[in-house]
Amino acid sequence: MGRSKIIPDRYGKEIERIKEVSAEMIGDCMQCGKCSAACPATGGMDILPNQIIRYLQLGRVDKVIESKTLWNCASCFTCASRCPRNVDLARLMEAVRLIVVRKREASKLKAERVPEIMADKRMPQQAVVSAFRKYSK
Ligand code: SF4
Ligand code: SF4
Repeated sequence: MGRSKIIPDRYGKEIERIKEVSAEMIGDCMQCGKCSAACPATGGMDILPNQIIRYLQLGRVDKVIESKTLWNCASCFTCASRCPRNVDLARLMEAVRLIVVRKREASKLKAERVPEIMADKRMPQQAVVSAFRKYSK
């Protein structure tokens, strides 16, 4: 049975979007577990990094979105550096986070709010630029 047959239609669009945003090949993961073994943040995770990609292979975006793992990943790229199949799990997680954040309309950063935000001298300029990338598309 082809992999496309086991992805529920319900999440087919989300899976395609995650692949598009991350530019990663979800199907290349062979579940060796090296990413999870090397990850320094598993203490705060409820699903291991290799299980995240397995859920994505199975089309269970809902499981990934509901997990604490998505938000406790430190984006340190250790998993990507250890992967024998060149799968960048950090990019995949970031893609899922972007999709979740963009779905929350209230999280969008409006240009007119920038002067107010920048009035806070503790706000790094990189954070504002990053927020625009994440929230304004
Ligand atoms: S290290 Fe790579 S191939 Fe192995 S489980 Fe993690 S993502 Fe999959
Ligand atoms: S990028 Fe995230 S999942 Fe990968 S090793 Fe770092 S904390 Fe773990």
